[in-house]
Amino acid sequence: MKSLTIHNNLCYLPKIIDDYDRVYFSPKISSKAQKDFLTARFLHLKTLFPKIEMSDYDSPVPSDFLAWNSSEEKKLAKDRILPHQNRLLNDLQFNVPEGFSSFRKKAEKFLPDFYEETITPTDPAIINRLSYFFEQHQLASSYFETRNGLVGSNYSTQLSPFLSCGALDVRYLYNYVKKYEQEFGENKSTYWIIFELLWREFFYWHYQKHGNLYFSENGLRAEKNFSSFPKYTFKDLHQLESPRFFRAALNELEQTGILSNRVRQIFASIWVNDLNLAWRSGALLFEENLIDYDVYSNYGNWMYLAGVGVDPRGKRYFNLEKQMAMYDPNRSYEKKWSKD
Ligand SMILES: Cc1cc2nc3c(=O)[nH]c(=O)nc-3n(C[C@H](O)[C@H](O)[C@H](O)COP(=O)(O)OP(=O)(O)OC[C@H]3O[C@@H](n4cnc5c(N)ncnc54)[C@H](O)[C@@H]3O)c2cc1C
Repeated sequence: MKSLTIHNNLCYLPKIIDDYDRVYFSPKISSKAQKDFLTARFLHLKTLFPKIEMSDYDSPVPSDFLAWNSSEEKKLAKDRILPHQNRLLNDLQFNVPEGFSSFRKKAEKFLPDFYEETITPTDPAIINRLSYFFEQHQLASSYFETRNGLVGSNYSTQLSPFLSCGALDVRYLYNYVKKYEQEFGENKSTYWIIFELLWREFFYWHYQKHGNLYFSENGLRAEKNFSSFPKYTFKDLHQLESPRFFRAALNELEQTGILSNRVRQIFASIWVNDLNLAWRSGALLFEENLIDYDVYSNYGNWMYLAGVGVDPRGKRYFNLEKQMAMYDPNRSYEKKWSKD
């Protein structure tokens, strides 16, 4: 009896399912929002592949942090990424640039016009979102101007939850953007969507190089520090004296499992700089609540903001007043999510 347990990467199932007698989907689920989101993806897959079962998170590896737990998944991990040519892959495995810009320059050279082998999503939630964002409303053409939005659902693609659990093949999305460019025109905005996807790849490869340093309090800097760190509940965090924006973000995270990129950046800056909390505690809060939780992007971004990651400028400080003046002068985000 050959069985396979997968923790994410749902999109590769059609490729491999026939090789196994039993297939278990066993994602890490900590919050209600994560459970609802992943159960919906699973239910859809079950209609396509009746033999899949959902099981409790079951990692043979002691660390919660390892995303690829089985050798099958390790093999699949290779397919997860954008730059796919062997030359680049071989090179990246040994020689990952430290900075995003040098990684981008290197990776962009290898991006094809189209990926030949991609997995077409059948999940209606994905198909509808792609069609809404791209063809119906052509929001991809103004993404560069809107991407820092805080409220609503049109400012960015909102595809990360599907990418993170693997229900959407990143190469399929890449082709989608390229086809859109052919039909509606290429501009800074369409380029910037690919640019952001490269950030995702960058953290993936960077992690392959630095491994568990992603979970050290000192990150890539100085001595390793794997000491324990506090875990905070939403209740604990609401009791702290904090800006209204921070409490609003706690509510949005708890209720929806999602935050915009700009909110994540400001939230992490308040966490580290104003509340002086350990960055790994913040990363853990996100890990347990985001429906798009991705080990590499989450810890990579937190490290970056805490000044122990790949940003040579050190700690990033986002001045709340300035941020609000630029991105939300009417404070509509706080009005929407704050209870006080
Ligand atoms: C502290 C912090 C923690 C984060 N944790 C996660 C996480 O666990 N999972 C996750 O997928 N993203 C994470 N991000 C990155 C980013 O916030 C989300 O990918 C983005 O908000 C998802 O919304 P979207 O799909 O509409 O993105 P879009 O703006 O439409 O971008 C398209 C895609 O590009 C990728 N992308 C965009 N920005 C980034 C970025 N900064 N880093 C890596 N990839 C990016 C995502 O796959 C995204 O779906 C984090 C950012 C911060 C600052």
